[in-house]
Amino acid sequence: MAGAELFGQRFGAAPAGVWSAPGRVNLIGEHTDYNDGYVLPFALPLRTTVAAALQDEPQWTVYSREAGETVVIGSDDLMPGRVTGWAAYVAGVLWALREAGFPPPSARIAVTSQVPLGAGLSSSAALECAVLAALVELGGLDVPREAWPRLAQQAENGYVGVPCGIMDQSASTLCRDGHALFLDCRHGTREQVPFDLAGHGLALLVVDTRAPHRLVSGEYAARRAACESAAAALGVAALRDLDRSALPGALARLDEVTGRRVRHVVTENERVLDAVRLLRAGQVRAIGPLLTASHASMRDDYEITVAQVDTGVETMLAEGAYGARMTGGGFGGCVLGLVEHASVDATAAAVRGAFAAAGYDDPHCFAAVPDRGVARLI
Ligand code: ADP
Ligand code: MG
Repeated sequence: MAGAELFGQRFGAAPAGVWSAPGRVNLIGEHTDYNDGYVLPFALPLRTTVAAALQDEPQWTVYSREAGETVVIGSDDLMPGRVTGWAAYVAGVLWALREAGFPPPSARIAVTSQVPLGAGLSSSAALECAVLAALVELGGLDVPREAWPRLAQQAENGYVGVPCGIMDQSASTLCRDGHALFLDCRHGTREQVPFDLAGHGLALLVVDTRAPHRLVSGEYAARRAACESAAAALGVAALRDLDRSALPGALARLDEVTGRRVRHVVTENERVLDAVRLLRAGQVRAIGPLLTASHASMRDDYEITVAQVDTGVETMLAEGAYGARMTGGGFGGCVLGLVEHASVDATAAAVRGAFAAAGYDDPHCFAAVPDRGVARLI
C-alpha cells in the first residue's frame, strides 16, 4: 500500500490509517456554478492518498511526495496567511475544522497523489478531502460526511484564498462509483445519477492538453462580471432564472457580446438537465451530442477555449467519439470524449498524433470510469 509505505519511510512507524480521495472531471455544466445553475461531475480513478497517525507534540508534520518536502504546521499557524504554498491546503483544512468548533488532533501526515497537480482535475480538493477524512476519523470528530464539502471549500476559499465553488469538494467527498453527481448550485441539493460507463462498454477518454494556462484569472473574472451585470439588467437574481424561452427577449436587451455570454449559460444549464434526464433513463450514448454542443457554446459564445482543446475535441469526434468537450474553466486544461471502451487506445493515439502534427506539447491521455468518493483504505 503506497500510502502506508511512504509514511513508514518518512516517519519510521506504521500509520494509524490510510485514506484516499479522488480527483474529478465535470461531465457537463461549465461556468454555470456561479450563475446558481447546475453541474454534473464524477470522480476519477486517480486519487490522493493520505497516511496519518496521531502525535504528542501540538503540531502537524506533513510530507508530500509531489512537493518533495516536509512542512511543520504549529497551532499558531491556523490563521489565513501563516502557511503558504502547497501546505496551505492542509493548514486550511485544520483551520476550517477549528473554526467550525472541531479542534483537529495533532498528527503526522504523508501525502501522495495520482492526480496531476494544476491540470484542472482537482488535485486541490482531493488533497483537502483526504486530509479532512483522516483528521475527522483520527480525532473521532463528530462531523457528518455531508458537511465535509463545505469545510474543504472553506479551507480553499478562506485560507488558501482561491474563490472556488463547492463542486470539486462535493465530488471528491460524495461521488459513488458508476454514478455522476448532479449538483444544484443554488439550493445545494444533490442527486446520484446512474452513469455506468463500464456496464455500457464505454469510457471517457480524458486528455490533459498541458496547454499553458494564460489569462485564466482575468478572463474568469470578466465572464463572471458579465453574467452578474446581465442578470441585474434583466431583473433576475441569477442567470439560472432564465430558460430558453426567455432568451430572445433577453438577447434583444443586451449588447452582442453579453448576449452570447448569457446564451452560453442558459443553454448550458439546459444541457445539464437534458443529460441528467438521459442518464436517469440509462441512455448513456445519447448524451454525446450534448457534450459536443457544450463545446461549441464554450468556443463560440463564451470564448474560453484555445487551439489545443479545439483540436482535441475535433480529433476525438473524427475518430467516432459520441461527443466531446473541453472540461473546466477554460484557456487550456482538459478535454473529454465519450468513446467505446475498445476505441480508447486508437482515439488517444489519434489525439497525440494531431497534437504532434500541430506542434503542441504531447498531451497526457487516460481512460476514466466513475469512481467512489473519499474512503478509508486501512
Ligand atoms: P487542480 O486542483 O486543478 O489540480 P489547483 O491549482 O486548484 O489545481 O491546485 C493545485 C495545487 O494544490 C498545487 O499547486 C499544490 O499547491 C496543491 N496540491 C495538490 N495536490 C498536492 C499534493 N499531492 N502535494 C502537494 N501539494 C498538492
Ligand atoms: Mg483545484
